[in-house]
Amino acid sequence: MEARQFAKKLIGWYRQHQRPLPWRETKDPYHIWLSEIILQQTRVQQGLPYYEKFIGEFPTVHDLARAPEQKVLRLWQGLGYYTRARNLHACARKVAHEFGGSFPLVYADLLTLPGIGDYTAAAIASIAGNEPVAVVDGNVFRVLSRVFGIDTPINSTEGKKAFTKLANQLIPESNPDDFNQGMMEFGALHCTPRNPSCVTCIFNKECIARSRGLQADLPVKLKATRNRTRYFSYYIIKQGNSLMMQARTGKDIWSGLYEFYLLEQKRVRKPENLLQEDDWLRSLLRLGEVSRVTKPYRHVLSHQTIISRAVVIELKKKPASYPETLQFYSMKKVHDLPKPVLISRFLYDLHLLS
Ligand code: SF4
Repeated sequence: MEARQFAKKLIGWYRQHQRPLPWRETKDPYHIWLSEIILQQTRVQQGLPYYEKFIGEFPTVHDLARAPEQKVLRLWQGLGYYTRARNLHACARKVAHEFGGSFPLVYADLLTLPGIGDYTAAAIASIAGNEPVAVVDGNVFRVLSRVFGIDTPINSTEGKKAFTKLANQLIPESNPDDFNQGMMEFGALHCTPRNPSCVTCIFNKECIARSRGLQADLPVKLKATRNRTRYFSYYIIKQGNSLMMQARTGKDIWSGLYEFYLLEQKRVRKPENLLQEDDWLRSLLRLGEVSRVTKPYRHVLSHQTIISRAVVIELKKKPASYPETLQFYSMKKVHDLPKPVLISRFLYDLHLLS
C-alpha cells in the first residue's frame, strides 16, 4: 500500500474514533511530555488519574522542578519503574534551568533530556512541534507487522530498525501529530493484540495478516529473558506510634523508596527462623516480641517476582543501637514516605496505616 493512502486512511479513522483525553486538547509540550512519560508501560485508564494529579500539583515545569524528590516519588507511587519518576524530575529541572522553562520542540534536542528516548522525543516533536518523525512502540509494531506482513522480530535490533524506517516512510509532512496519535490509538482500540476488529477495519482489503490469517502470529517477538524469583523477609519494627524504615539505595529495584528492615535469602525460609540468625534482630527480642507474621505475598515486577513475608516486632522501648540505614518514623511520616506497592500492602493489610 502507498504511504499516502495509508496515512490518509489512518488519520481519517483517528479523527473519527479518538478518545477524548486531556493531553489531546493541548499542544503544550509540558503536558504532552508528562502524559507520555506516565503512559510508558501503563494503560491510559490507569495513567489518567496520575496525569491529573501531576498537572494539579505541578501546573508548570518550574513547579515540578522545584518540588522535593520525595514528593515526586510519592505522587508516582503505584506506577512502578521509579527510574522514570526520577528522570521525570531531572528532566523538569534541566528544562527549567537550562531552557528557561520552555521544552525544546526539535526531535534531536529533545533526545538530550533525561528520560527522553526515541519514542517520547518523536511524540513531543510531532505533536507539539509538528515535526514528521514517527513514534514506534508496541502498538506501531503490531499494526505495521500485520498490515505489511513483516515477521522480523520486533525486539531484535534489525526489527527495530526496519519498523522505524517504515514508520518514517509512512508519516506525512502535514499532520504528523494526527498520524502518530492515530497509530497509537488504532493499535490500542482496533488492531488489538487479541481479537483485532478485522471485519470493520479500514485496512481489511490491504492487510496481509488478515488475508493470510496471520493476525495471531504477528508481530513476532523473541523469547524474553527468564523471570527471576527473589525471597524477601521484612521485619516491621514498631515502637509506640513509630516504625523503623530505611531507604533503598544502589542500582537494585526501588532505589530511593522506603522499606522495612530486610533480610533477603536465596530460597524460601521461615522469617521467624531467620530472625534468630541475625544478631541485631535477636537482640531486639529482649525489648519486645513478635506480634504478627504474615502469609507469603507474591509481588510481580517486569523481570522479577518477589516472594515476601513480614514479621512485626513490637518494642517496649527504642533500642540503644541500630544499623545506621534505619530510622524511626511517625506513622504520619511513614504515610508520606515514597514506598514500593508491596510495602504499602503490608502496612494496610496489617492495619498499621488506614
Ligand atoms: S485487518 Fe485486522 S489485523 Fe489487519 S490491520 Fe485491520 S484489524 Fe489489524
